[in-house]
Amino acid sequence: MKRIILIGPPGAGKGTQAVRLAAKEDFAWISTGDMFRDAIKKQTPMGCEAQKYVEGGLLVPDETVVGLVLERLEAPDCEKGFLLDGFPRTVAQAEALGAAFGKNSITAVLHIVVPEEILVSRIRKRAEEEGRVDDSVATFEKRLGVYLQDTAPVVAYYDSIGVLRTVDGVGDVEEVYQRILRVIE
Ligand code: AMP
Repeated sequence: MKRIILIGPPGAGKGTQAVRLAAKEDFAWISTGDMFRDAIKKQTPMGCEAQKYVEGGLLVPDETVVGLVLERLEAPDCEKGFLLDGFPRTVAQAEALGAAFGKNSITAVLHIVVPEEILVSRIRKRAEEEGRVDDSVATFEKRLGVYLQDTAPVVAYYDSIGVLRTVDGVGDVEEVYQRILRVIE
């Protein structure tokens, strides 16, 4: 059973790689970004609360995210393992996950590394193709700032407990995917 976490800056290709991994491995794929976008589209109470953060490129407060993810992880499909895409994004979230499952319960944390200038050009392209509300270049810069401030410490946290694996995220989708497979197998 594998419990994998994907971490990387906005535009690193987490979602793209998660789709491929989820198709190959028998585990539940959990994207907190997708959960929020879905809740916003349906205008559920949680979606209404999250909307201003997601559209502003800010993190949804930890209590909301942690509650959502821990509840999702109780679903039967997570018993065969899971892939977390976009969570944890703060050390407090990582600690909450550790408290719920045990600090040593994560198989690997894949840190996808991409230089900033490549991220910006990918984000421009995605904004045009998908029309994501949080994908303007200005919002991207804010999201990158949030990543560096709040999520970079999560990378250090998992490194300190020995589960961090660094993956070079530059190259085409298939190349990066092959690197990921080499790391998790
Ligand atoms: P993503 O698709 O993973 O880039 O997430 C899109 C947006 O959803 C983020 O910019 C945040 O506003 C929100 N979000 C997703 N995951 C989290 C998380 N773990 N903690 C806080 N906010 C999150």
